[in-house]
Amino acid sequence: MTHTPPLHPDSLLLHADDALHEGSSVTPMIPWSATFSAEDAQAFARMASEPMHERYYTRYGNPLHRRIARIVADLEGAETGLVAASGMGAISTVALGLLKQGDRVVAQRNHYMGTTKLLSELLARFGVSAEFVDQTDTDAFARALARPAAMVMLESPTNPDCSLTDLAAVAALAHAAGATVVVDNTFATPLNQRPLALGADLVVHSATKYLGGHHDLTAGVVVGDAATIERLWSTQIVLGATLSPMDAWLLLRGMRTLSVRVRRINESALAVAQALAAHPSVASVSYPGLASHPQHALARRQMSGFGGVMGLRLRAGYDDTARFVAGLRLPQHAVSLGGVESLIVHAAAMWAGTLDDAGMRLAGIEPELVRLSVGLEHPDDLIADLTRGLDTLRPA
Ligand SMILES: *Cc1c(COP(=O)(O)O)cnc(C)c1O
Repeated sequence: MTHTPPLHPDSLLLHADDALHEGSSVTPMIPWSATFSAEDAQAFARMASEPMHERYYTRYGNPLHRRIARIVADLEGAETGLVAASGMGAISTVALGLLKQGDRVVAQRNHYMGTTKLLSELLARFGVSAEFVDQTDTDAFARALARPAAMVMLESPTNPDCSLTDLAAVAALAHAAGATVVVDNTFATPLNQRPLALGADLVVHSATKYLGGHHDLTAGVVVGDAATIERLWSTQIVLGATLSPMDAWLLLRGMRTLSVRVRRINESALAVAQALAAHPSVASVSYPGLASHPQHALARRQMSGFGGVMGLRLRAGYDDTARFVAGLRLPQHAVSLGGVESLIVHAAAMWAGTLDDAGMRLAGIEPELVRLSVGLEHPDDLIADLTRGLDTLRPA
């Protein structure tokens, strides 16, 4: 028997789906069809009854979904996976597929806003209760998990402060409480953090971010064991968050370069974070790769790189912060993250019409907080642009 060595992530991104390729084209064909024809009655019966068949009806799956799921599953060390039309499509499929009335979920106080709303509003209407704890406090998880729970929802690092959850410690507590552990690994990517190896049961991604990487599509992925993924598939086909064939093709193309993008972004973001932290107009930089991050030791333990997102607190009020963001040449003022273009968000701008600086502080919205997602521009150019903007700030 010949022994084939396991592939590195870089190679998995290009070849994990080789066995699913058909025809002689180097790139995959776009299966641009809502439905697929059967050769005979027997084949039709098989297509209609086999779970996760990828050539029956596109809401049930298509050949590109399967290729994407194979690659992400291999990167995360999972058996298999499922693709959805957005990150929230994947997360809501997980929640609605696995939870039932009377179940209890333990989650973080800080999650992607859609996840928070799903747990605190939508699921509450169906009799699922959720308890939210400080993700940085493992003892708080221990207290919450002294009682049984059906699911523990985790996300690390989180927006915008790059707070971390001790994934291995919390997964152990969760399993002792009988819970399924779900980790949103969007910010880290499978290249910087592998939650299944730390004890998680399922990993979800907003593939809109790093996996797709080009700010041109929305998509989601969930990976885990085959029995659970098949159960989630049977939920997904009734929820209907189906990724279109064209977007699946774009996602697959974007994913091929994930390793070079993430490596470069890890390096650039660290350089940018270090430069900004040294600027007199910056009060603080929250980035897990900086030694000043309160959880830097945990970051080094559970991550192999620190990603491209950081939170910046400027020595400025709302108006100067808004002027700084609007005056930058390179980072575009837009939500989302993880793509080739750097993006920046002034968090408080959403409340600008309703609250003044004092009101924002009272509500816990810091008017001087911005989130930066570092892209593939040369780090020296980003640092020069950001520094020029910071130099114009008057001390508040
Ligand atoms: C963007 C995001 C989501 C939601 O993904 P969509 O693709 O926008 O639905 C979920 N979790 C995290 C951490 C995200 O950044």
